[in-house]
Amino acid sequence: MRIDLHTHSTASDGTQSPADVIASAAQAGLDVVALTDHDTSSGWPEATAAADRSGLRFVPGVEISCLLRGVSVHLLSYLHDPEDPALVRMLTESRTSRESRARRMVDRLGPDTGLCWEDVQEHVHGPATIGRPHIADALVARGVVADRDEAFATLLSGRGKYFVPQTAPDPVEAVRVVRAAGGVPVIAHPAASKRGSCIDDDEVAAMAQAGMAGLEVDHRDHSDAERAHLRDLATALGLFVTGSSDYHGAGKRNLLGENTTEPESLARIDEIAAASRLAHPA
Ligand code: AMP
Ligand code: ZN
Ligand code: FE
Ligand code: FE
Repeated sequence: MRIDLHTHSTASDGTQSPADVIASAAQAGLDVVALTDHDTSSGWPEATAAADRSGLRFVPGVEISCLLRGVSVHLLSYLHDPEDPALVRMLTESRTSRESRARRMVDRLGPDTGLCWEDVQEHVHGPATIGRPHIADALVARGVVADRDEAFATLLSGRGKYFVPQTAPDPVEAVRVVRAAGGVPVIAHPAASKRGSCIDDDEVAAMAQAGMAGLEVDHRDHSDAERAHLRDLATALGLFVTGSSDYHGAGKRNLLGENTTEPESLARIDEIAAASRLAHPA
């Protein structure tokens, strides 16, 4: 059983449509794949239909942008009610903030690179959640940088002068909203120190206290030492662990199935979601 619980499509900053992500997952020999676009569940219907055709199991998810002390925290949620009003409101606010933040970054980049908002919009599919990868694609199209990697290493770096943070919910609050929406919260790449600052173990514990259920341990942005530490932390806090690719199509080097999740962890996700549906029938 090969299970990959973290991928992105053109509903956010991936380069393949939800149906194509599912087709690629089947081709990669996966049995189960989750779609976890940033701050949106809009890819679910297309992915569900594609999974019905290909015979693999689709797990609906989302990756929620959060901020704590100015540190970016990504919270995965699986199997939540996509129409839960509080969750919908939180995700809508995040997408709105992402758009104004992207506009401000383009305003800063414009004088030095010639970039304008229309250039960026050409790379955003319809109502997709906008992010720095779309600005990167526009910079590539203008010939300013060679690829997304170079854009993130230079102009779009979180430490650079063009960077503007988005506003985003507190992670403990987000965990509560996800649980109330029947979802199963798992913190994404909690120790990815090469991306920027990370939250500490006490802050992860506070999220667990609020109902967070799992830690994404096997992720390419974690070193062996970071994985070992996270496994111990998960045991101490009674959390399950996952492993995932964080696939973005051609937008990143991450390959489908490069890290996978044990069936026991998927079973815990199903159990927690089922218990929540029993406690709060729709
Ligand atoms: P944002 O959400 O707008 O702050 O942009 C961060 C997103 O860009 C994350 O989803 C990352 O997966 C993606 N990202 C970060 N670094 C890179 C990179 N070097 N190449 C492509 N995508 C990246
Ligand atoms: Zn992304
Ligand atoms: Fe992430
Ligand atoms: Fe991701």
